[in-house]
Amino acid sequence: MILVLLGAPGSGKGTQAVMLAKTLSVPVISTGDILRQAIREQTDIGKRAKEYVDAGKLVPDGIVAEALKGRIAGGDCRNGCILDGFPRTIVQAELLEELDISPELALSIEVPDSDIETRMAGRRVCACGAVFHIESNPPAAEGICDRCGAALTSRADDRPETVRERLRVYHEQSEPLKGYYERHGKLRSVVGTGDIGEISVRLQNALA
Ligand code: AMP
Repeated sequence: MILVLLGAPGSGKGTQAVMLAKTLSVPVISTGDILRQAIREQTDIGKRAKEYVDAGKLVPDGIVAEALKGRIAGGDCRNGCILDGFPRTIVQAELLEELDISPELALSIEVPDSDIETRMAGRRVCACGAVFHIESNPPAAEGICDRCGAALTSRADDRPETVRERLRVYHEQSEPLKGYYERHGKLRSVVGTGDIGEISVRLQNALA
C-alpha cells in the first residue's frame, strides 16, 4: 500500500510515518531525510539543495525528483511505502502518477499553526533519523538518542524565522494538495493534536 502523509512542517508526519510503517511493514520514504543526508555527505544533489533547505524554501522539483527516484530504485518499495514530505506541490503529485507510484490514500495530519511553532522549538533530532521532543516525546536520557546513543541536535531549519517561512510555503504550495487528493476521493484528515499514540490510532482508523 502506498500512502502519502500530508501536514504542515512539525505536524508529526515523520514520527507518525515511522509508527505506521512498522504496523504495515513497509519503508518510509522521507524526502527531507534524503536531502539532509545528501547535504551532510555533500553529494551533487546535496550541494544543489542546501541553500533552499537552509532557507525553509522548497527545493526545485527536478532536484527532489532525482533524489526520490534514486531512493525508490533501492527496490524495497515493492510492497508499498509511506511517503513523508513528498509530494509537496501538485506538480510533484502528478510526477508520482507519471512514475507509476499512485498512492491509495493521502492522510492529512491537522495541527494549528500556533501549536506548530511551539512544537518545533522543542524538536530534537539524531543523524540516525530518530526524532524526539523535549516535552511530548523525550529521550530516556536528556540529549541522547534512544536508538543509537549519539548526541541529539536541533534542526537548523527549526529556527523560529525559518519555521514561519516554512509554514508560509506550506499554506501556499502544499496545502492545495488536500483539495487535489480530495477530488480523487483519496483524502482522509485526522486531528493531529494530543497524545502521539492516540494520533497514531486515529491514522490507523482512517485506513480502515
Ligand atoms: P521535511 O523534513 O519534510 O520538513 O523537509 C525539510 C526541507 O527539505 C523542506 O523545508 C524543503 O526545503 C526540503 N524538502 C523536503 N521534501 C521536499 C519536497 N517534496 N519538495 C521540495 N522540497 C522538499
